[in-house]
Amino acid sequence: MEKIGTRGGHNRECEGASALINEVTEDRNVCAAMDENLKNAGDTVVNCTPGNCEENEDLNYGTDTANNNHVDLFVPIHFNKAYDSYVGAIGSEVWINPASDTGVAIGTRILNNLQALGFKNRGLKNGMHLHDVRVTNMPTVLVEVCFLEATEDVALYKKLGADVVGKAIADGINGKSCGNAPLIINKPASIVTIPETRVNNSIAQLQDECNRQGFSNQKVDGFSGTNTLAGCPLTKFGANGNITKWIQKRLGFPTNLQTGYFGDITKNAIIKYQAVMGLNADGIVGQGTWAALLR
Ligand SMILES: [Zn+2]
Repeated sequence: MEKIGTRGGHNRECEGASALINEVTEDRNVCAAMDENLKNAGDTVVNCTPGNCEENEDLNYGTDTANNNHVDLFVPIHFNKAYDSYVGAIGSEVWINPASDTGVAIGTRILNNLQALGFKNRGLKNGMHLHDVRVTNMPTVLVEVCFLEATEDVALYKKLGADVVGKAIADGINGKSCGNAPLIINKPASIVTIPETRVNNSIAQLQDECNRQGFSNQKVDGFSGTNTLAGCPLTKFGANGNITKWIQKRLGFPTNLQTGYFGDITKNAIIKYQAVMGLNADGIVGQGTWAALLR
């Protein structure tokens, strides 16, 4: 039986991330379900979730509440976001102080439980740059449940529901099943409609160009999915035109180097980019490199 401080990340005045689902909405759903399961297992839960306030106050409220109540463990719940949109699965991660054996053990169990539910396990991360990990007097495990722009992560999260995800985290904390707490969310996650202004114009330009050059016949909607990737042609040394120009722009070339010509400068930049992205660094923009560029 332990005393556990929990919080949902961010609040309505300093919003978290939003894409297919909203972070503040869902982190509170998961946190509430986790709390019920912890209580069911006999743990004392200290609610460290702030009301609506600005960012510094939001962070300090959480960690001050945890420190002042001398909790044994602090568990902030978040959802991750890396891209505007992403087709596929990205997965779960937990941020800890690597020097904390308790943090490592509990974080590992949480990730294993989320992995058993079907989420990709991205592993433990060194969270010493994070306020929540740094200023707490007790071990902190900051859970990033999954990526809320990743289609497969969100489909899985919706299928499971916050109750199941919250229980998996609570079970990970206790290192055993917390038993069956009553379902409290018991409803599918709400889907956020992405406003038109979020449409990525850069992707739309590429889609349009690939259609114009006859490589694809796809909807120009600004969202990079399977059709967009399939429509991107193999582009390499000697190419000349708007697709190369798009790649140069994407790589951050200054305007005067966005020539549309795929020469040595572009090839070397691609090789560097591929190395950074962990791709085969051959200087040729094939499907693997396109997939990275489209993110
Ligand atoms: Zn967050």
